[in-house]
Amino acid sequence: MKPRFKKSALKDGAGFRDALAAWFARDGKDYPWRRTRDPYAVLISEVMLQQTQIATVLGRSFYQRFLETFPDLENLAGAGDGQLLKAWEGLGYYRRVRMLRATAQALIADHGGRFPSELADLMRLPGVGRYTAGALRAFAFDLPAAVVDGNVARVLARLMDFSAPVDDGAGQKQMWEWAEALADPLRPRIYNSALMELGQTLCRPGVPTCLSCPVAGFCKSREPEILPNKRQKIAITAIDEHALWLRDSGGRLLLHREGGKRREGLWKLPTREAAELAKLPVLAEECYTITRYRVTLRVHDGRKLKSFHPAADEVWQDQDEAIGLAMPSPFRRVIERLLGEF
Ligand code: SF4
Repeated sequence: MKPRFKKSALKDGAGFRDALAAWFARDGKDYPWRRTRDPYAVLISEVMLQQTQIATVLGRSFYQRFLETFPDLENLAGAGDGQLLKAWEGLGYYRRVRMLRATAQALIADHGGRFPSELADLMRLPGVGRYTAGALRAFAFDLPAAVVDGNVARVLARLMDFSAPVDDGAGQKQMWEWAEALADPLRPRIYNSALMELGQTLCRPGVPTCLSCPVAGFCKSREPEILPNKRQKIAITAIDEHALWLRDSGGRLLLHREGGKRREGLWKLPTREAAELAKLPVLAEECYTITRYRVTLRVHDGRKLKSFHPAADEVWQDQDEAIGLAMPSPFRRVIERLLGEF
């Protein structure tokens, strides 16, 4: 059973923050990005974690490896597309890493390679919105700043028993207002980490662990498991993607270089309309989700084709070179599997 509400966090902000900070001092997790105050490293971690789970980032050491490849702003600002996409491979949403490079270039061009600490200056940087600017101010500069991500919005909605959607304009405005009102003037870095961690652990989606919650006495919600409410979800659509497995007499693999905005510069197997490959046997299948699509990738055996002419953006690549190219994870998985078999 959820503990009783005793006092408002807005009326006793200091008490709320103290309770949260004491819990975090005892139970807070030691993530690599919590050990630094370097704004560059904070920026990388924040952008990386915006659409990727902590477990994924930690599991494959993405954060550490990215910082080894691009240890500072200058390295990132001067990175070529191939190197950049390769370092981001497996994280998806490649627009993020291109935007990071643009941020690095703007910091060098307009700020002498140093990070500003004012909110307005930060928000003028390409790709830096209110969340990232707040995170930089709190985690790198230890300045009082509000930081609202999905975890924080869930905690706030439950604390205030807010039943309207949290993800529309009015809901977002309310979340930021409460976050600003509760911002810690004394230890912003710790407080924001604690609030986010509360949302990641005890106040998680679904049924929260209210009996262990350090701020249960400040929480108005009676049925936290039904909060937060969100706008109606967009339906997921299932689609098929048909690709071709083709190697020439020298063992080179045919790959296609993407030209669209979202995946420009990434490599994958050539794709065709289903009808074109319908008669060819399927060598492998791989499922993945992208935005609102659930995709089944089917790789057909191109060796059964009577004749074949590569398109202009399709290139024969040596096996070793192909492995070194940046490619979307589902294609990498299927290519590595098939290279071992065919
Ligand atoms: S875990 Fe969340 S819902 Fe439960 S008492 Fe704490 S803030 Fe409220």
